[in-house]
Amino acid sequence: MKISEILSRKRTISFEFYPPKEEEGIPAVLRSMERLKEFSPDFVSVTYGAGGSTRRFTQDIAVKANEDPDVNVMAHITCVGQSRSQVHNALEDLKAAGIENVIALRGDPPKGETRFQTAPDGFSHATDLMEHIKANFSFGFAGACYPEGHVESRDLETDIEHTKRKVDAGVDFLISQLFYDNTYFYRFLDRVGKAGINVPIIPGVLPFLSTGQIRRFTSLCGATIPTELDARLEKLSDDDDAARALGIEYATEQVRDLWDNGVSGVHFYALNRSYSISRILRNLSLKVER
Ligand code: FAD
Repeated sequence: MKISEILSRKRTISFEFYPPKEEEGIPAVLRSMERLKEFSPDFVSVTYGAGGSTRRFTQDIAVKANEDPDVNVMAHITCVGQSRSQVHNALEDLKAAGIENVIALRGDPPKGETRFQTAPDGFSHATDLMEHIKANFSFGFAGACYPEGHVESRDLETDIEHTKRKVDAGVDFLISQLFYDNTYFYRFLDRVGKAGINVPIIPGVLPFLSTGQIRRFTSLCGATIPTELDARLEKLSDDDDAARALGIEYATEQVRDLWDNGVSGVHFYALNRSYSISRILRNLSLKVER
């Protein structure tokens, strides 16, 4: 089913997974997905890596998950290191496997590279890929957005102009980059609304697992760690169990606030782990309430 159809009826809960480096890791990803099925996610998504083999695993996991009639799958696809025809073929494979939803992204530069390079005869921006999808396929498709601005963007205003182009290219909805201060998300909703962006925007939430992890991720994507949270994290830099517990507590309150403020859904960056998310959803009884 197209995710846009679900969003037109209700708020969604979704989980994001990533392909393992080795094929042997695929069953563990599927097990983690299976454990989270208890919460009846409206869709699950599988990210797309920069390298050849993990891309195949993205498809393998998406196709396997899609065999379950209760699971809606959204496959991620990026423009990195592939020509238009290679991306086109990857989309054809997803279509042939019965996948109905994709999220179209430009992608991050591969490891060791600092700048995105358009591949020979490749797509330069997510919107180029979206226009290609719109013209050639019947997928439902989403795009990414950035409540604190994309790291490469001059400013938030410019980034919002580029986000508007995603809507013009036909995205059904947007999923946000992670953030730890909901104020940024609410201000963003206000600004994009004024910019004419009228598709559902689903906040992305990452329950952090350790002080090192949240610092690493936020420095890569430019998300702010609120001062008070940062001080608590500092004290837990050598205690991952306590940091994970704080991650559950923090995300529980973050999602409660988002939900109470009427967001279109919540997309959890599950990172192939089920424990924290299970705890958060139980804390909130979200499955039964929605
Ligand atoms: P774009 O929309 O192309 O934007 C990239 C930059 O270019 C921005 O600064 C934007 O403002 C600017 N820009 C856009 N259009 C134009 C234009 N016409 N002219 C000039 N500048 C422009 N990465 C992966 O590698 N694999 C994944 O599976 C993946 N999944 C993700 C899922 C979500 C929900 C999110 C939020 C991110 C994901 N990413 C993934 C990361 C993403 O690929 C990076 O954030 C990437 O740097 C930008 O992708 P984009 O699709 O937003 O690109």
